[in-house]
Amino acid sequence: MHNAREVAIDIAMTLRAQGHEALLAGGCVRDEAIGREPEDWDVATSAPPEIVAQVFRGAMSVGASFGVMLVRRWGFTIEVATFRTDGRYRDHRRPESVTFTDAKTDANRRDFTINGLFRDPQSGEIIDYVGGLSDLNARCVRAIGIPVDRFDEDHLRMLRAVRFAAMLEFDIHPDTASAIRTHAQAIDGVSRERVGQELQRMVCGTNAIRAMELLCDLGLEFAVLGTRAGQTRFSHLHAAVESNLTWPSRIAALAIDRCVDAQGIRTSWTPTWMLSNASRDNACLILDTLETLGHWDSLTVAQSRRCAGRESFASALCLFGVDQPVAAKAIGAMTDLWANESQGILPRRLLDGHALLKAGIPAGATLGTLLEALYDGQLDGRVQSHEDAMNLLETLRDSVD
Ligand code: ATP
Ligand code: MG
Repeated sequence: MHNAREVAIDIAMTLRAQGHEALLAGGCVRDEAIGREPEDWDVATSAPPEIVAQVFRGAMSVGASFGVMLVRRWGFTIEVATFRTDGRYRDHRRPESVTFTDAKTDANRRDFTINGLFRDPQSGEIIDYVGGLSDLNARCVRAIGIPVDRFDEDHLRMLRAVRFAAMLEFDIHPDTASAIRTHAQAIDGVSRERVGQELQRMVCGTNAIRAMELLCDLGLEFAVLGTRAGQTRFSHLHAAVESNLTWPSRIAALAIDRCVDAQGIRTSWTPTWMLSNASRDNACLILDTLETLGHWDSLTVAQSRRCAGRESFASALCLFGVDQPVAAKAIGAMTDLWANESQGILPRRLLDGHALLKAGIPAGATLGTLLEALYDGQLDGRVQSHEDAMNLLETLRDSVD
């Protein structure tokens, strides 16, 4: 078995050999039909979970009440879910109960027609109970059944509609879009983790701009991001995507576009986007460096070099270039020259803490101040040798004493 597809087909065929119905289901069928590489492979079956567990020893139950099992074979993990229909929904998030059922009913409990397709593992034939194939052809995201009811059941589906439309470059069907607008103000009951995950996937994808435009257009922005910037330009996020910047840089970019400052990222966006501490700090550092770039001309050479040596510098310069392209180019040219020097932007210190202790400076705050003042001299070019450094140390020492 070389790949997840073959493993999923093998699992489905094994269930069939035992007399159960088993089909490839959901996103993998959709993606294969339009020539995309599926992210994961799911099998749907008539076999109840306890039978799946018997057939595949070691299968792990993830939410047994929903009939979902994880089967690990040849290094791949495939989700095997029993055909089900969902009972009444609690909190717009989870059904109160599920009933095991047949393939057609299972297709109808899924969110969008393009996600409701099955594929026969043996013949390869696509089985379409919900009109998903014609919507795939029409490049359309359409809720299965009555859109308002489906969004009322599970509010997260509103974000999934946005993500699929952006990711696949599909339109959202007008009735589905209008149902989202109706429900947009009420994304509640959905766990932060699920919302954060959807948002992360939107903004890290190649069509991040379209996803954000859809959020605004469908009236979801305030409910989800807590912003109401009133303008839908995403020029900084655009630059971040074009330059393939990392996830924290994209958060910083979007923060600029939506007028959110570092404090806003810390207090409001950290839970919204489920930012890790490292991502949160990186995004804030980028905003901080961007602010420094705004008064670059008033910096000393040492301050400029310190700024250019920060890890956040490249991302900040890219975002700075959106509003100040000429200045950004000049800064880039200057810092490139420094980077090409033999020791780079931040050369090794001629005198370090040990050297100062050896020279008789007691450990403490003064030592730190002297250390940085000496390094400033080095970065400014006033100190070029060990001797220069010792001379400057003597002068500084006198002024500190
Ligand atoms: P991708 O994995 O590429 O994001 P996917 O369609 O496979 O897309 P998953 O979240 O992996 O999405 O879910 C697998 C399938 O389960 C979906 O295709 C859909 O049929 C169904 N599904 C997932 N989440 C929901 C939901 N909130 N409501 C209804 N059906 C859902
Ligand atoms: Mg999937």
